[in-house]
Amino acid sequence: MKSQDYMALEDKYGAHNYHPLGVVIARGEGVWVWDVEETKYMDFLSAYSAVNQGHCHREIVDVMVEQAKVLTLTSRAFYNNVLGEYEKFITEFFGYDKVLPMNTGVEGGETAIKLARKWGYTKKGIPENKAKIVFAEGNFHGRTLAIISASTDPDCTVGFGPFMPGYEIIPFNDLTALEKALEDPNVAAFMVEPIQGEAGVYVPDEGYLKKAAELCKAKNVLLICDEVQTGLARTGKMLCADHDGVRPDVLILGKALSGGTMPVSAILADDEVMLCIKPGEHGSTFGGNPLACKVAMKALEILKKENLAEKAEKLGEKFRAEMLKLKEQFSFVSHVRGKGLLNAVVIESRDNVNAWDVCVALKENGVLAKPTHDDIIRFAPPLVITEDQLMWAVERIAKTLAQFN
Ligand code: PLP
Repeated sequence: MKSQDYMALEDKYGAHNYHPLGVVIARGEGVWVWDVEETKYMDFLSAYSAVNQGHCHREIVDVMVEQAKVLTLTSRAFYNNVLGEYEKFITEFFGYDKVLPMNTGVEGGETAIKLARKWGYTKKGIPENKAKIVFAEGNFHGRTLAIISASTDPDCTVGFGPFMPGYEIIPFNDLTALEKALEDPNVAAFMVEPIQGEAGVYVPDEGYLKKAAELCKAKNVLLICDEVQTGLARTGKMLCADHDGVRPDVLILGKALSGGTMPVSAILADDEVMLCIKPGEHGSTFGGNPLACKVAMKALEILKKENLAEKAEKLGEKFRAEMLKLKEQFSFVSHVRGKGLLNAVVIESRDNVNAWDVCVALKENGVLAKPTHDDIIRFAPPLVITEDQLMWAVERIAKTLAQFN
């Protein structure tokens, strides 16, 4: 079968809830992927930052295969001999008392909201059913109903109401608005992405998160950081919150926690918060399964062992400097922004150029990226990328943009 046949299959039998770029990937290794015709591309999306460790990282796959042969799932009805080891590992890794293991990123967000509400009622003394969670405009925390209830993106919400009550939405990067919102004594938490990834890689002002954390602390409100996309070395530190020296009360991780091999998410918090949820009150059949636990330990170990945060920081600087040069050269490139290797280039739509067409042309030139919100191209390669590989991609991006000049 050819690429066209695979695309036709998906189109005929799959729900039309995505609009993929026309490439059918058949295998991957490190920063590279190959389509079914064996054309080689450099992946500059990394499955939305899930493949930070590179495609099919040998050590992660080995651990996965070994564990899969022994035990994959027990459910939490019973103990298993890997979960405790993983819980110790990840809590020590990030410096929290406890972890609650889930699977997808959005479940991480849902869990954090439930946890914050429970804490609000049992510890803060918020009257029953009055707890409020504050979110930032432009957020993306996933696709479930409770999560999209906080979304301000019509693509996420239109036709899906009614929505979850008990939320307040304030502008992102606006400390005055946050301060005002926190005056309500029924606010249990402020949930925020340290950089808004899906919105288009919006980096807040320096010190925003630090000040937000201080405001939350002063009002006895939990700071929940959704680091599903920004965490795990992507932005040049292990956590994006580390740039501000902030330790969130509740930390949500996902995506690269498995190096892109399977859905693994985690919610980290201290006892005061985490122990508000009692046995039987929350869970997941697959959360904390031994296969996921082994994979996650290896995925985290690799981030450290291969110095991927430092690499992202250094190569990210280089990449933005190169993109800024291209911005000078091509007037339709209106913005370049990002942190570490989470970057965006904004393409001003004109008669002869738009972000989608640029991504299609990029693909023809061997680089895979995808637009977000019509005019923004996110560039987020696997963090195992070398400087030579990065410069190879830069040259391809420059060549592609020149085609539209
Ligand atoms: N939170 C953030 C910040 C994300 O970027 C995403 C996905 O892009 C999610 C949550 C949802 O993760 P998942 O698709 O694994 O549910």
